[in-house]
Amino acid sequence: MIKVAWSAGHGMNTSGKRTPDDEREWSFNNQVVHAAMAYLAKYEGVQQLRLDDPSGKTDVPLMTRTNKANEWQADVYISCHHNALSGVWGAHSGVETYVMVNLEENSTSLKLASTIHPHAVKAMGLSDRGIKFANFHELRETNMPAVLVEGGFMDSRIDIMKMRDGQILQSQGVGIARGVAEYLNLKLIEDFKPIEGVRYLKPSTSTLMNEFITLLQNATNEGILGDSKWVALAKNRQLSLDDALCLLATIENRKQP
Ligand SMILES: [Zn+2]
Repeated sequence: MIKVAWSAGHGMNTSGKRTPDDEREWSFNNQVVHAAMAYLAKYEGVQQLRLDDPSGKTDVPLMTRTNKANEWQADVYISCHHNALSGVWGAHSGVETYVMVNLEENSTSLKLASTIHPHAVKAMGLSDRGIKFANFHELRETNMPAVLVEGGFMDSRIDIMKMRDGQILQSQGVGIARGVAEYLNLKLIEDFKPIEGVRYLKPSTSTLMNEFITLLQNATNEGILGDSKWVALAKNRQLSLDDALCLLATIENRKQP
């Protein structure tokens, strides 16, 4: 499993983090993270964790966010923000992506940033301010490649037009997720087409299903089953009843006496 940690910057009511018209930065960041996570779920073998408060009510401290990601052993850390220059409407504009300065992790973070950044720029249709280096907490205190995307300026008359369009923020999220998938070499889950006449394993309770998946998972971990695709099929409710039955027999037969 590949673990991807997401952080939408700040909370809804964090002071200062707003446009000159009092729109909240978190609400822009939230839309991006929401779209990114939904899109990344279309790839095989991905686990995702959201580090900010998805309701926006609290501004989860940065230390809590990075500790959580470190404990969870995330493979990558993506923080989504929107920039501000002076808090007064102006004509400055553009997307920039940050990585930490002078860290061992830097080269991998830089690689991650360079796959994500062009997607974010293209999605926003704003000027490319490039990849930059900064000593930000989320970049410094994370044990995995980490990037922070500033998807446009909240106090820019140009950028705010894009940020007020939910479709555009959604494309930014999808773009960032595509960059993550590219960096991690993820494979899209193929569309499932049920075969007519085949019955699929669908127990009446999720407990039973989870029990069955645990059995398959253990058998795979112990090498009794050589192919992890059975676990994936079961998890996606795409395992046929016949295969399920024969898998049970196989596990039983191959178990050490
Ligand atoms: Zn921010």
